[in-house]
Amino acid sequence: MSFESLGLSAPVLQAVADKGYTTPTPIQEKAIPIVLMGRDVLGCAQTGTGKTASFVLPMIDILSQGRAKARMPRTLILEPTRELAAQVAENFETYGKHNKLNMALLIGGVSFPDQERALERGVDVLIATPGRLLDHFERGGILLNDVKILVIDEADRMLDMGFIPDVERIVATLPTLRQTLFFSATMPPEIKRLADRFLSNPKEVTVSPPASASTTIVQGLIVVPEDDKREALLALIKSQEVKNAIVFCNRKRDVATLHTVLKKHGLNAGALHGDMSQPARTETLEKFKAGDIQILVASDVAARGLDVQDMSHVFNYDVPFSPEDYVHRIGRTGRAGKVGHSFTLAAPFEGGLIEAIEKLIGTTIPRIEVPGLETAVLEAGDGRRRGRGGRGGRGGARPGAAAGDKPRGPRREPRAPREHREPHPEASAEPQAAVAEAPRDVHMEAAAEAHREPRPERAPRERRPERAPREHAAREHAPREPRAERSAQPPRERNSERSPERRPERRRDRDDGGPAPVGLGDHVPAFLARSPR
Ligand code: AMP
Repeated sequence: MSFESLGLSAPVLQAVADKGYTTPTPIQEKAIPIVLMGRDVLGCAQTGTGKTASFVLPMIDILSQGRAKARMPRTLILEPTRELAAQVAENFETYGKHNKLNMALLIGGVSFPDQERALERGVDVLIATPGRLLDHFERGGILLNDVKILVIDEADRMLDMGFIPDVERIVATLPTLRQTLFFSATMPPEIKRLADRFLSNPKEVTVSPPASASTTIVQGLIVVPEDDKREALLALIKSQEVKNAIVFCNRKRDVATLHTVLKKHGLNAGALHGDMSQPARTETLEKFKAGDIQILVASDVAARGLDVQDMSHVFNYDVPFSPEDYVHRIGRTGRAGKVGHSFTLAAPFEGGLIEAIEKLIGTTIPRIEVPGLETAVLEAGDGRRRGRGGRGGRGGARPGAAAGDKPRGPRREPRAPREHREPHPEASAEPQAAVAEAPRDVHMEAAAEAHREPRPERAPRERRPERAPREHAAREHAPREPRAERSAQPPRERNSERSPERRPERRRDRDDGGPAPVGLGDHVPAFLARSPR
């Protein structure tokens, strides 16, 4: 099938040809004609399938008729992260270069006045993360009652990040008569329920990830005591022909520390996580995409959906808590038929997480050894650290290891497995063992104090009561961070805390990163325990 047969206009076809695309991907083939017909779409597709163009191309055509009024966008695209929002905006610029459309990007970490000026000019397409959009809405800077097309992208990620209540509030402000395009990589029951509420007689479009990707990712699993992970990572990087790589960590703090360690070892590394300022994130990402940074140490929230051409390696410094994240992480490499490598470092206590991943992908990840390093044994369990320093299975911290010297508290439970899990096609790599040649002389750095990057939990956020705009104003003045930090910010910038990546920080008040206790937690004050006279 050709792009011409999909019913797109000449300017859009020209932009597609300029980009060098000759044939539509399956999701584009299926979704574009439906969107052009004005029907709602329920799309089950993940990044890498050409999903973005499947809604951007027909939207450009629909928008070519009519004009936007000041502060009244005609279409709205909701994305869970700033990076994804920025990527969609880039797509709009590329595909809409022969059309005169105004676009605004509302994401955290960017100044409000600039965004307000863009809205004032009138925008055809508004691309936003939910928190920042609500901030603008509640300030009265934007009216959503002229939105004719709504796109909810990466709905399952929105759910994971606790954004669904915000999305519901946004949808409640939109006209009921609109076209809605709803995309999710997976369709667990809670996502399906949401889709049923937001969509009207949708056409379902499902595509599996490209089959070739599964065989082009060579996976490997290295099981080592936790304190040996750095040594193993450095050895792997040195022994592999790494053109460019992402090293994924579960914790923001580990991202920063590992970044420093890699730089100390002379590697060209950058860091990307949700606590960095938006300009720093954008700059790092651009450098990585341009090849100026070879190794990007990143957290999931910052790296989700990253579209970097020809990535040679993905390293999982931690086993992700959710098996789906494993599939997303390794899917950054081995794209477009190119061979990619993914190495996962697992400590014994992460055995339960590996088990869940292998169940999801329907295959065993080949175990490999790093020469010179002791191989450990995975333990059955839930992925929580046990005892000190994660030396699971061997009892106690290694003498002299700075890392494990601090007692570590219990960890949060990993996410419960989703009911719908089936072997994931993208991740079903052929069992193929690779043995890394590793020099033994790489020495250990003092390991970072472990501090789990908290994942927002679903239940409490889902239960969050609807806030009226006025209540929000009151909430803004509630303390969220230490005073010193907050008073350093200009008042208008405070709202940027609502960005996806900052939200969890407000919940991080336990050293082990676990959820904040509700009410009194386990502690019962003495006066309550006393029996009444
Ligand atoms: P997405 O799933 O939207 O993140 O797209 C993944 C990658 O596929 C991006 O690099 C797009 O530029 C690319 N792409 C999208 N559509 C096509 C197409 N029809 N032919 C070739 N590449 C495409």
